[in-house]
Amino acid sequence: MASNMTFTMIKPTAVKNGHIGAILNKINEGGFKIVALKLTKLSAEKAGEFYAVHKERPFYGELVEFMSSGPIIAAVLQKDNAVEDFRTLIGATNPADAAEGTIRALYATSIGENAVHGSDSDENALIEANFHFSGTDMFV
Ligand code: ADP
Repeated sequence: MASNMTFTMIKPTAVKNGHIGAILNKINEGGFKIVALKLTKLSAEKAGEFYAVHKERPFYGELVEFMSSGPIIAAVLQKDNAVEDFRTLIGATNPADAAEGTIRALYATSIGENAVHGSDSDENALIEANFHFSGTDMFV
């Protein structure tokens, strides 16, 4: 399952600004199949756990606070070469550097509030999918 799936979140600001439908449409148009999906909210504890890899980075506290500030969409996506292709679809971390037409170029408001998460490896995609979904809620 790992090499053809990735995990994404639509982050709080993009949800609040009404971009869920447009972003899911970009995901579909990009050739990804949605195999798990939910609207949920992370506690600060859960957000801290999810981003534990960034614990030493200066923006960690801000990131945890932001990601637990409101509802998010969590989803698991399937496609050949899913991790790399999805990172191409979303664009660079900083929306100022994101290629035209990418999800972050279109819907992000800042480097922190950058509209969407995308897994950075097959291994992390699996860990992140399992963090948010039980096996019976993933239709892979
Ligand atoms: P990506 O999400 O593109 O894989 P990183 O893994 O480097 O990027 O960072 C994780 C998340 O942390 C980013 O999506 C963004 O929300 C936040 N972040 C990264 N760099 C900064 C920064 N310099 N200032 C504030 N937030 C940041």
